[in-house]
Amino acid sequence: MKATPQRSKLSAALKELLAIARKVQKEFALDDGYSAGAVGAAVRTRSGRIYSGICIDVACGIGFCAEHSAVAEMLKARETEIVAVVAVNAKAILPPCGRCRELLYQVNRKNAAARVLLREDRVVLLRELLPEHWIEAKKRSSRK
Ligand SMILES: [Zn+2]
Repeated sequence: MKATPQRSKLSAALKELLAIARKVQKEFALDDGYSAGAVGAAVRTRSGRIYSGICIDVACGIGFCAEHSAVAEMLKARETEIVAVVAVNAKAILPPCGRCRELLYQVNRKNAAARVLLREDRVVLLRELLPEHWIEAKKRSSRK
């Protein structure tokens, strides 16, 4: 199924997610020059609830993205199905990184249909950001 990017004005639901992501986004200093909050994210689940998160930027790759912490908040409530996701830094809307795309998909395959805000005028489905997904190839290969 091919999805069509939405190019119209932002829906009220996405505007609300964007506002929440912007509300939690505010970088603050941790020890030794590290920081948290440079990116804020919000996800809306199938139930209509919204969960937010912030990134943690520390050394050795042990920090994580804002989407990652929003997903952890969602999982605390035992929800897994996301219908929309938004992330922002102080200046712009940010697409999820490759790791977050995988995370969103792996917590619930239905999240392939989640709307992802890439810019104020561009929304795509998560599946469009994960073409030729390895899990699908793995499933196909195990059926043979
Ligand atoms: Zn990420």
